Amino acid sequence: MQENPTQKISLYGMLPRDIGALLPDEKTFRSRQLFTWVQKGISSYEEMINVPKRIKEELQYQRCTLFSSQIIDEKIDTDGTAKLGIRLQDGAVIESVLLTDEHDRKTACLSSQVGCAMGCAFCSTGTMGLIRNLEASEIVEQFHHLQNRFGSISHIVYMGMGEPLANFEAVRTSIKILHHETGVNIGLRKITISTCGLAEGIRQLAEKGPHVKLAVSLAAADNQLRSTLMPINNAYPVEELQAAMQTYQKATGRRITLEYVLLAGINDTRKAARELISYSRALHVIINLIPWNPGAGLEFTSPSADSIKRFAEYLEEAGVQVTRRYRRGRGVNGACGQLAVKHQKPSD
Ligand code: SAH
Ligand code: SF4
Repeated sequence: MQENPTQKISLYGMLPRDIGALLPDEKTFRSRQLFTWVQKGISSYEEMINVPKRIKEELQYQRCTLFSSQIIDEKIDTDGTAKLGIRLQDGAVIESVLLTDEHDRKTACLSSQVGCAMGCAFCSTGTMGLIRNLEASEIVEQFHHLQNRFGSISHIVYMGMGEPLANFEAVRTSIKILHHETGVNIGLRKITISTCGLAEGIRQLAEKGPHVKLAVSLAAADNQLRSTLMPINNAYPVEELQAAMQTYQKATGRRITLEYVLLAGINDTRKAARELISYSRALHVIINLIPWNPGAGLEFTSPSADSIKRFAEYLEEAGVQVTRRYRRGRGVNGACGQLAVKHQKPSD
Protein backbone atom coordinates (compact mmCIF):
# COMPACT_ATOMS: atom_id res chain seq x y z
CA MET A 1 0.00 0.00 0.00
CA GLN A 2 1.25 3.50 -0.76
CA GLU A 3 2.40 5.80 2.04
CA ASN A 4 -0.44 8.10 2.85
CA PRO A 5 -0.15 10.67 5.67
CA THR A 6 -3.75 10.13 6.80
CA GLN A 7 -3.41 6.39 6.81
CA LYS A 8 -3.48 4.64 10.16
CA ILE A 9 -1.02 1.92 11.08
CA SER A 10 -2.68 -1.15 12.52
CA LEU A 11 -1.26 -2.63 15.71
CA TYR A 12 -2.63 -5.98 14.53
CA GLY A 13 0.32 -6.34 12.14
CA MET A 14 2.97 -5.89 14.86
CA LEU A 15 4.97 -8.38 16.86
CA PRO A 16 6.04 -7.34 20.39
CA ARG A 17 9.39 -6.17 19.03
CA ASP A 18 7.67 -3.87 16.50
CA ILE A 19 5.56 -2.34 19.26
CA GLY A 20 8.71 -1.97 21.36
CA ALA A 21 10.41 -0.06 18.55
CA LEU A 22 7.61 2.54 18.72
CA LEU A 23 8.18 3.01 22.45
CA PRO A 24 11.95 3.14 22.90
CA ASP A 25 11.72 4.77 26.35
CA GLU A 26 9.44 2.16 27.86
CA LYS A 27 10.43 -1.04 29.64
CA THR A 28 10.37 -4.17 27.48
CA PHE A 29 7.50 -5.87 29.33
CA ARG A 30 5.23 -3.13 27.95
CA SER A 31 5.55 -4.26 24.36
CA ARG A 32 4.51 -7.79 25.30
CA GLN A 33 1.68 -6.47 27.43
CA LEU A 34 0.41 -4.31 24.56
CA PHE A 35 0.77 -7.17 22.08
CA THR A 36 -1.29 -9.42 24.35
CA TRP A 37 -4.00 -6.79 24.63
CA VAL A 38 -4.18 -6.27 20.88
CA GLN A 39 -4.31 -9.98 20.18
CA LYS A 40 -7.34 -10.34 22.44
CA GLY A 41 -9.15 -8.75 19.51
CA ILE A 42 -9.88 -5.38 21.11
CA SER A 43 -11.12 -2.43 19.11
CA SER A 44 -10.26 0.56 21.31
CA TYR A 45 -7.46 1.82 23.54
CA GLU A 46 -9.91 2.15 26.44
CA GLU A 47 -10.04 -1.61 26.71
CA MET A 48 -6.35 -1.74 27.72
CA ILE A 49 -7.17 -1.10 31.36
CA ASN A 50 -3.71 -1.52 32.89
CA VAL A 51 -1.79 0.52 30.31
CA PRO A 52 -0.83 4.10 31.27
CA LYS A 53 -2.50 6.95 29.40
CA ARG A 54 0.83 8.38 28.20
CA ILE A 55 1.54 5.18 26.28
CA LYS A 56 -1.87 5.12 24.63
CA GLU A 57 -1.44 8.77 23.67
CA GLU A 58 2.01 8.13 22.26
CA LEU A 59 0.68 5.27 20.10
CA GLN A 60 -2.21 7.41 18.87
CA TYR A 61 0.22 10.24 18.14
CA GLN A 62 2.17 7.79 15.97
CA ARG A 63 -1.07 7.07 14.03
CA CYS A 64 -1.39 3.57 15.46
CA THR A 65 -4.87 2.17 15.44
CA LEU A 66 -6.53 -1.10 16.41
CA PHE A 67 -8.72 -2.45 13.61
CA SER A 68 -7.96 -0.76 10.29
CA SER A 69 -10.67 -2.79 8.54
CA GLN A 70 -14.37 -3.25 9.18
CA ILE A 71 -17.03 -5.87 8.61
CA ILE A 72 -19.52 -4.68 6.00
CA ASP A 73 -21.38 -7.88 5.26
CA GLU A 74 -22.18 -11.19 6.87
CA LYS A 75 -23.79 -14.27 5.39
CA ILE A 76 -24.46 -17.54 7.16
CA ASP A 77 -25.17 -20.72 5.22
CA THR A 78 -27.62 -23.38 6.41
CA ASP A 79 -24.61 -25.66 7.01
CA GLY A 80 -23.19 -23.13 9.51
CA THR A 81 -20.48 -21.73 7.23
CA ALA A 82 -20.19 -17.99 7.68
CA LYS A 83 -18.72 -15.49 5.27
CA LEU A 84 -17.70 -11.95 6.16
CA GLY A 85 -17.20 -9.12 3.71
CA ILE A 86 -14.46 -6.89 5.10
CA ARG A 87 -13.64 -3.38 3.90
CA LEU A 88 -10.01 -2.33 4.10
CA GLN A 89 -8.69 1.12 4.77
CA ASP A 90 -8.33 1.98 1.08
CA GLY A 91 -11.87 0.83 0.26
CA ALA A 92 -10.93 -2.57 -1.19
CA VAL A 93 -13.14 -5.42 -0.04
CA ILE A 94 -12.10 -8.97 0.81
CA GLU A 95 -13.90 -12.03 2.08
CA SER A 96 -13.11 -14.36 4.98
CA VAL A 97 -14.86 -17.57 5.86
CA LEU A 98 -15.49 -19.47 9.09
CA LEU A 99 -15.93 -23.22 8.84
CA THR A 100 -17.35 -25.23 11.72
CA ASP A 101 -16.99 -29.01 11.72
CA GLU A 102 -19.11 -31.70 13.38
CA HIS A 103 -17.06 -31.44 16.59
CA ASP A 104 -17.74 -27.70 16.68
CA ARG A 105 -14.10 -27.01 15.83
CA LYS A 106 -13.74 -23.67 14.11
CA THR A 107 -11.39 -22.93 11.23
CA ALA A 108 -10.69 -19.46 9.86
CA CYS A 109 -10.22 -19.38 6.10
CA LEU A 110 -8.17 -16.25 5.45
CA SER A 111 -7.48 -14.24 2.31
CA SER A 112 -3.93 -13.25 1.48
CA GLN A 113 -4.52 -10.92 -1.49
CA VAL A 114 -7.28 -8.77 -2.97
CA GLY A 115 -8.00 -10.89 -6.04
CA CYS A 116 -5.35 -13.20 -7.48
CA ALA A 117 -2.96 -13.06 -10.43
CA MET A 118 -2.79 -16.79 -11.05
CA GLY A 119 -5.79 -17.06 -13.36
CA CYS A 120 -6.80 -20.66 -12.66
CA ALA A 121 -9.56 -21.42 -15.15
CA PHE A 122 -11.99 -22.87 -12.60
CA CYS A 123 -11.70 -20.21 -9.87
CA SER A 124 -13.86 -17.11 -9.35
CA THR A 125 -11.12 -15.25 -7.49
CA GLY A 126 -8.88 -15.75 -10.52
CA THR A 127 -11.31 -13.80 -12.69
CA MET A 128 -10.70 -10.65 -10.61
CA GLY A 129 -7.01 -10.44 -11.42
CA LEU A 130 -4.68 -9.16 -8.70
CA ILE A 131 -5.69 -5.87 -7.16
CA ARG A 132 -3.13 -5.81 -4.39
CA ASN A 133 -1.35 -7.81 -1.73
CA LEU A 134 -2.71 -7.73 1.80
CA GLU A 135 -0.58 -6.46 4.64
CA ALA A 136 0.11 -8.71 7.62
CA SER A 137 -2.24 -6.59 9.75
CA GLU A 138 -5.07 -7.07 7.26
CA ILE A 139 -4.61 -10.83 7.42
CA VAL A 140 -4.47 -10.93 11.25
CA GLU A 141 -7.52 -8.64 11.48
CA GLN A 142 -9.57 -11.15 9.44
CA PHE A 143 -8.86 -13.76 12.11
CA HIS A 144 -9.99 -11.44 14.90
CA HIS A 145 -13.11 -10.26 13.09
CA LEU A 146 -14.12 -13.91 12.70
CA GLN A 147 -13.21 -14.84 16.27
CA ASN A 148 -14.96 -11.81 17.80
CA ARG A 149 -18.05 -12.60 15.80
CA PHE A 150 -18.22 -16.40 16.09
CA GLY A 151 -16.13 -17.49 19.11
CA SER A 152 -12.85 -19.26 19.70
CA ILE A 153 -11.02 -20.45 16.58
CA SER A 154 -8.55 -23.34 16.72
CA HIS A 155 -7.38 -23.71 13.11
CA ILE A 156 -6.35 -21.44 10.25
CA VAL A 157 -6.19 -22.14 6.53
CA TYR A 158 -4.79 -19.69 3.99
CA MET A 159 -7.35 -20.71 1.41
CA GLY A 160 -9.36 -17.56 0.92
CA MET A 161 -8.77 -15.06 -1.87
CA GLY A 162 -5.30 -14.95 -3.34
CA GLU A 163 -2.13 -16.99 -3.52
CA PRO A 164 -0.35 -16.92 -0.13
CA LEU A 165 3.10 -17.76 -1.49
CA ALA A 166 2.84 -14.79 -3.87
CA ASN A 167 2.58 -12.55 -0.78
CA PHE A 168 5.06 -14.49 1.24
CA GLU A 169 6.46 -11.91 3.65
CA ALA A 170 3.08 -10.61 4.83
CA VAL A 171 1.78 -14.16 5.18
CA ARG A 172 4.88 -15.18 7.13
CA THR A 173 4.53 -12.19 9.48
CA SER A 174 0.84 -12.93 10.03
CA ILE A 175 1.72 -16.52 10.97
CA LYS A 176 4.40 -15.32 13.41
CA ILE A 177 1.80 -13.08 15.05
CA LEU A 178 -0.99 -15.66 15.21
CA HIS A 179 1.42 -18.34 16.43
CA HIS A 180 3.03 -16.10 19.07
CA GLU A 181 2.84 -17.57 22.57
CA THR A 182 1.67 -14.35 24.20
CA GLY A 183 -1.08 -13.85 21.60
CA VAL A 184 -3.64 -16.32 20.27
CA ASN A 185 -0.93 -18.97 20.04
CA ILE A 186 -2.24 -21.20 17.25
CA GLY A 187 0.10 -24.16 16.77
CA LEU A 188 1.93 -24.47 13.45
CA ARG A 189 0.29 -27.85 12.96
CA LYS A 190 -3.06 -26.12 13.03
CA ILE A 191 -2.13 -23.68 10.28
CA THR A 192 -2.26 -24.64 6.60
CA ILE A 193 -0.95 -22.73 3.62
CA SER A 194 -2.61 -23.67 0.36
CA THR A 195 -0.68 -22.89 -2.82
CA CYS A 196 -1.35 -23.30 -6.51
CA GLY A 197 2.17 -24.69 -6.81
CA LEU A 198 4.79 -21.94 -6.62
CA ALA A 199 7.68 -24.38 -6.36
CA GLU A 200 10.17 -21.65 -5.47
CA GLY A 201 7.93 -20.52 -2.60
CA ILE A 202 7.65 -24.10 -1.34
CA ARG A 203 11.45 -24.42 -1.35
CA GLN A 204 11.72 -21.14 0.57
CA LEU A 205 9.15 -22.34 3.06
CA ALA A 206 11.16 -25.54 3.54
CA GLU A 207 14.36 -23.57 4.06
CA LYS A 208 13.18 -20.68 6.21
CA GLY A 209 9.84 -21.78 7.62
CA PRO A 210 7.44 -21.42 9.27
CA HIS A 211 6.90 -25.15 8.96
CA VAL A 212 3.14 -25.11 8.74
CA LYS A 213 1.01 -27.72 7.02
CA LEU A 214 1.10 -27.48 3.26
CA ALA A 215 -1.72 -28.03 0.79
CA VAL A 216 -0.97 -27.97 -2.92
CA SER A 217 -3.71 -27.43 -5.48
CA LEU A 218 -2.97 -29.92 -8.22
CA ALA A 219 -6.14 -30.31 -10.35
CA ALA A 220 -4.21 -32.55 -12.77
CA ALA A 221 -1.04 -34.59 -12.60
CA ASP A 222 -0.43 -34.30 -16.33
CA ASN A 223 1.44 -31.21 -17.59
CA GLN A 224 -0.68 -30.69 -20.68
CA LEU A 225 -4.01 -30.72 -18.86
CA ARG A 226 -2.68 -28.86 -15.82
CA SER A 227 -1.29 -26.04 -17.96
CA THR A 228 -4.71 -25.48 -19.50
CA LEU A 229 -6.35 -25.32 -16.06
CA MET A 230 -3.61 -23.62 -14.05
CA PRO A 231 -1.27 -21.31 -16.00
CA ILE A 232 1.30 -21.44 -13.18
CA ASN A 233 2.13 -24.92 -14.48
CA ASN A 234 3.98 -23.31 -17.39
CA ALA A 235 6.43 -21.81 -14.91
CA TYR A 236 6.58 -24.80 -12.54
CA PRO A 237 5.66 -28.05 -14.26
CA VAL A 238 4.45 -31.01 -12.22
CA GLU A 239 7.90 -32.64 -11.97
CA GLU A 240 9.45 -29.52 -10.45
CA LEU A 241 6.47 -29.14 -8.15
CA GLN A 242 6.85 -32.74 -7.03
CA ALA A 243 10.54 -32.19 -6.27
CA ALA A 244 9.70 -29.07 -4.22
CA MET A 245 7.13 -31.04 -2.24
CA GLN A 246 9.72 -33.72 -1.56
CA THR A 247 12.07 -31.03 -0.27
CA TYR A 248 9.31 -29.76 2.03
CA GLN A 249 8.61 -33.22 3.34
CA LYS A 250 12.27 -33.81 4.02
CA ALA A 251 12.52 -30.55 5.96
CA THR A 252 9.31 -30.98 7.96
CA GLY A 253 8.36 -34.66 8.02
CA ARG A 254 4.82 -33.54 7.37
CA ARG A 255 2.27 -35.15 5.10
CA ILE A 256 1.10 -32.83 2.33
CA THR A 257 -2.49 -32.47 1.15
CA LEU A 258 -3.03 -32.51 -2.61
CA GLU A 259 -6.19 -30.59 -3.41
CA TYR A 260 -7.90 -31.88 -6.50
CA VAL A 261 -10.85 -29.88 -7.76
CA LEU A 262 -13.05 -32.29 -9.73
CA LEU A 263 -14.29 -30.96 -13.06
CA ALA A 264 -16.77 -33.27 -14.80
CA GLY A 265 -15.47 -34.80 -18.01
CA ILE A 266 -12.11 -33.05 -17.68
CA ASN A 267 -10.05 -34.38 -14.81
CA ASP A 268 -12.36 -37.05 -13.33
CA THR A 269 -11.50 -39.76 -15.87
CA ARG A 270 -9.85 -43.09 -15.21
CA LYS A 271 -6.76 -41.86 -17.09
CA ALA A 272 -6.53 -38.78 -14.84
CA ALA A 273 -6.88 -41.01 -11.77
CA ARG A 274 -4.05 -43.26 -12.99
CA GLU A 275 -1.80 -40.24 -13.50
CA LEU A 276 -2.67 -38.92 -10.07
CA ILE A 277 -1.92 -42.28 -8.47
CA SER A 278 1.48 -42.55 -10.07
CA TYR A 279 2.26 -38.89 -9.20
CA SER A 280 1.37 -39.49 -5.54
CA ARG A 281 3.59 -42.52 -5.22
CA ALA A 282 6.71 -40.42 -4.81
CA LEU A 283 5.12 -38.36 -2.03
CA HIS A 284 3.55 -38.75 1.41
CA VAL A 285 0.17 -37.24 0.65
CA ILE A 286 -3.54 -37.32 1.25
CA ILE A 287 -5.72 -36.32 -1.67
CA ASN A 288 -8.57 -33.96 -0.97
CA LEU A 289 -11.25 -34.23 -3.64
CA ILE A 290 -13.21 -31.00 -4.02
CA PRO A 291 -16.19 -31.13 -6.37
CA TRP A 292 -16.15 -27.97 -8.45
CA ASN A 293 -18.23 -25.12 -7.02
CA PRO A 294 -19.92 -23.01 -9.68
CA GLY A 295 -18.80 -19.44 -10.21
CA ALA A 296 -20.31 -16.69 -12.35
CA GLY A 297 -19.14 -16.88 -15.95
CA LEU A 298 -17.15 -20.08 -15.46
CA GLU A 299 -18.11 -22.92 -17.75
CA PHE A 300 -17.34 -26.13 -15.95
CA THR A 301 -19.66 -28.77 -14.55
CA SER A 302 -19.65 -30.30 -11.09
CA PRO A 303 -19.27 -34.07 -11.22
CA SER A 304 -22.20 -36.24 -10.15
CA ALA A 305 -22.10 -37.98 -6.77
CA ASP A 306 -21.53 -41.24 -8.65
CA SER A 307 -18.54 -40.04 -10.56
CA ILE A 308 -16.97 -38.53 -7.42
CA LYS A 309 -17.41 -41.88 -5.71
CA ARG A 310 -15.92 -43.72 -8.68
CA PHE A 311 -12.91 -41.42 -8.83
CA ALA A 312 -12.33 -41.80 -5.07
CA GLU A 313 -12.54 -45.57 -5.41
CA TYR A 314 -9.91 -45.67 -8.17
CA LEU A 315 -7.55 -43.91 -5.81
CA GLU A 316 -8.45 -45.93 -2.73
CA GLU A 317 -8.06 -49.23 -4.59
CA ALA A 318 -4.53 -48.15 -5.42
CA GLY A 319 -3.85 -47.50 -1.72
CA VAL A 320 -3.89 -43.72 -1.97
CA GLN A 321 -5.42 -41.84 0.98
CA VAL A 322 -8.43 -39.75 0.04
CA THR A 323 -10.76 -37.28 1.75
CA ARG A 324 -13.82 -35.71 0.22
CA ARG A 325 -14.65 -32.18 1.05
CA TYR A 326 -18.23 -31.26 1.76
CA ARG A 327 -19.62 -28.48 -0.36
CA ARG A 328 -19.61 -26.30 2.68
CA GLY A 329 -20.58 -22.70 2.25
CA ARG A 330 -22.05 -23.04 -1.23
CA GLY A 331 -25.26 -21.32 -0.14
CA VAL A 332 -23.33 -18.12 0.59
CA ASN A 333 -20.80 -18.44 -2.26
CA GLY A 334 -18.23 -19.05 0.43
CA ALA A 335 -17.02 -22.44 -0.72
CA CYS A 336 -13.60 -23.03 -2.29
CA GLY A 337 -12.99 -20.91 -5.32
CA GLN A 338 -16.20 -18.90 -4.96
CA LEU A 339 -14.74 -15.86 -3.25
CA ALA A 340 -14.85 -12.84 -5.49
CA VAL A 341 -15.87 -9.28 -4.96
CA LYS A 342 -17.44 -7.30 -7.76
CA HIS A 343 -16.68 -3.71 -8.72
CA GLN A 344 -13.61 -3.70 -6.58
CA LYS A 345 -11.99 -0.33 -6.60
CA PRO A 346 -9.64 1.02 -3.97
CA SER A 347 -10.48 4.67 -3.37
CA ASP A 348 -6.97 6.00 -4.01
N1 SAH B 1 -4.49 -19.76 -4.08
C1 SAH B 1 -4.44 -20.87 -3.23
C2 SAH B 1 -5.44 -20.84 -2.11
C3 SAH B 1 -6.83 -20.37 -2.44
S1 SAH B 1 -7.76 -21.39 -3.50
C4 SAH B 1 -4.55 -22.16 -4.01
O1 SAH B 1 -4.86 -22.11 -5.18
O2 SAH B 1 -4.28 -23.20 -3.43
C5 SAH B 1 -8.27 -22.68 -2.41
C6 SAH B 1 -8.67 -23.99 -3.09
O3 SAH B 1 -9.88 -23.84 -3.82
C7 SAH B 1 -7.66 -24.51 -4.10
O4 SAH B 1 -7.37 -25.84 -3.83
C8 SAH B 1 -8.38 -24.39 -5.45
O5 SAH B 1 -7.95 -25.38 -6.34
C9 SAH B 1 -9.80 -24.58 -5.02
N2 SAH B 1 -10.77 -24.02 -5.96
C10 SAH B 1 -10.66 -22.91 -6.70
N3 SAH B 1 -11.78 -22.70 -7.41
C11 SAH B 1 -12.62 -23.70 -7.09
C12 SAH B 1 -13.97 -24.01 -7.44
N4 SAH B 1 -14.65 -23.24 -8.27
N5 SAH B 1 -14.52 -25.11 -6.91
C13 SAH B 1 -13.86 -25.88 -6.04
N6 SAH B 1 -12.60 -25.61 -5.63
C14 SAH B 1 -11.98 -24.55 -6.15
FE1 SF4 C 1 -5.64 -17.87 -7.31
FE2 SF4 C 1 -5.90 -20.17 -5.90
FE3 SF4 C 1 -7.93 -19.20 -7.38
FE4 SF4 C 1 -5.79 -20.19 -8.59
S1 SF4 C 1 -7.22 -21.32 -7.29
S2 SF4 C 1 -6.82 -18.28 -9.16
S3 SF4 C 1 -4.17 -19.54 -7.22
S4 SF4 C 1 -7.04 -18.23 -5.60
